[in-house]
Amino acid sequence: MSNSKLVNYTRISPNSTNPRKDKIRKITIHHMAGNLSVETCGNVFAPSSRQASSNYGIGSDGRVGIYVEEKNRSWCSSSASNDNQAITIEVANNGGAPNWTVSDIALRKLIDLCVDICKRNGIPSLNYTGNTNGNLTMHKWFAATNCPGPYLESKFPYIASEVNKRLTGGGSSTSDNLYRVQVGAYSKKANANKMEAKLKSNGFDTYMLTANGLYKVQTGAFSQKSNAENQAKKLKYLGFDTYITTNSGAPVTSTPTKSIDILAREVIRGDWGNGQERKDRLTSAGYDYGEVQKVVNKLM
Ligand SMILES: [Zn+2]
Repeated sequence: MSNSKLVNYTRISPNSTNPRKDKIRKITIHHMAGNLSVETCGNVFAPSSRQASSNYGIGSDGRVGIYVEEKNRSWCSSSASNDNQAITIEVANNGGAPNWTVSDIALRKLIDLCVDICKRNGIPSLNYTGNTNGNLTMHKWFAATNCPGPYLESKFPYIASEVNKRLTGGGSSTSDNLYRVQVGAYSKKANANKMEAKLKSNGFDTYMLTANGLYKVQTGAFSQKSNAENQAKKLKYLGFDTYITTNSGAPVTSTPTKSIDILAREVIRGDWGNGQERKDRLTSAGYDYGEVQKVVNKLM
């Protein structure tokens, strides 16, 4: 039995039954009831006093954490019978009560992960029946909880149908097969912010990603290449340099809220790791690594 290659972060929780006592034939999708990174979720499941875990977690940035190996049973859905048969997945919320929304990139990664789980474990399809007869299940059927929340719950039929399309049709990964119109890639976040503001003032929706230490400003993600080309044409007419890419990256989702001073103290305390890890984590949290490091050097 293997684990998913989509995993970006590993922190094995002591809260599991090893090995699981049944064959893997179900998937149970949960929500975190909070916007937890995969690292924070790992922290939550780390103490044995917590008595809870999941096999996987997905952050709002689309990164995947593993906390209980697939061969073992997570303590997740308040049902031993379900969890012995299920791979359990916690998904971060980018919005709170009452809807508990999740980011589009997390939803796409969730579908990728479900496809991967089904393929590796010989699950021929995901059947959402609205009750425990199917093999796509939810926590609220086993306990007095509103998990997975109204938003994710409403997506269950869509998730099952997308997964099944890919299991039968062999379609490619949803998150990697979008055509994105990129308008700039910058080493300094301030320059990316400027470009975003300029695009917004021209009426374009924008989002920022980070990859290889660069802040990339993109204005659309299209499943049809021709739609991306139309968008690029409009932008070129307005004087923007564009190119179309299928490369994604980690989205800069959170609005940075901490002052550089506080961040620098956290960095010194070791909260952000070292070297490239520190750089990547600060960048994908939306901070300017260079600016933070300058203050760190001053304080040290
Ligand atoms: Zn749950």
